Amino acid sequence: MKTKVNEIFSSIQGEGPVVGYKQLFIRFCGCNLKCNYCDTDFSDGTTYSEEELYKKITTEYNLETFHSISLTGGEPLLSAEFLKEFLPMIKGITKIYLETNATLSDKLPLIKNYIDIISADIKLNLNPEIHREFFKQCNGIQTFAKIVFDENISDINIEECINLGKQFNLELILQPKMDGYRMTVTSDFCNEILDKFTAKYHNVRLIPQVHKFLDVR
Ligand code: SF4
Repeated sequence: MKTKVNEIFSSIQGEGPVVGYKQLFIRFCGCNLKCNYCDTDFSDGTTYSEEELYKKITTEYNLETFHSISLTGGEPLLSAEFLKEFLPMIKGITKIYLETNATLSDKLPLIKNYIDIISADIKLNLNPEIHREFFKQCNGIQTFAKIVFDENISDINIEECINLGKQFNLELILQPKMDGYRMTVTSDFCNEILDKFTAKYHNVRLIPQVHKFLDVR
């Protein structure tokens, strides 16, 4: 089987609870969503077989020096059939970290045995039932939820996120939407939103995109 990879690079994770760790990023092409804040070009890339991708990353990088390999995109679960063959080749060398928009609940079971950590989005413009179905599949895997928000976040959004957090015992990571290197909301607004969450659920943190401050990818 073959799939398209947009880019492979070593960098520092800038989002969520593993912020600051060195990761090898494998960015897969394509996405099933079109978020208005998407800052990634994942449209085109190089086609690899599982063996070709394994050879590329093991000859060009010392995988043991990374905290984990980040499967990112785009939406990496669009390549789940490929990953089902590829991930057993690298399982055990370092951890496997999946960054996903948490909408393809039928794809995760194909690869969940190989995943160590899931960074799953909660998209405020989507029906939370879509994410609920996804989180049901995350059972047994270290999972946290990332919530990108701006001034349009509503009390209903907050309630829905908290309900998902409570149901699946998720750490919720609030991530202010960025415009380049600047947050699109004020620090006061961030505090206000964090207070609304923590009034009803304690497992919540506010973490901006640190890689933008570090000026790395
Ligand atoms: S899910 Fe992620 S990669 Fe896909 S459009 Fe939204 S922000 Fe971009």
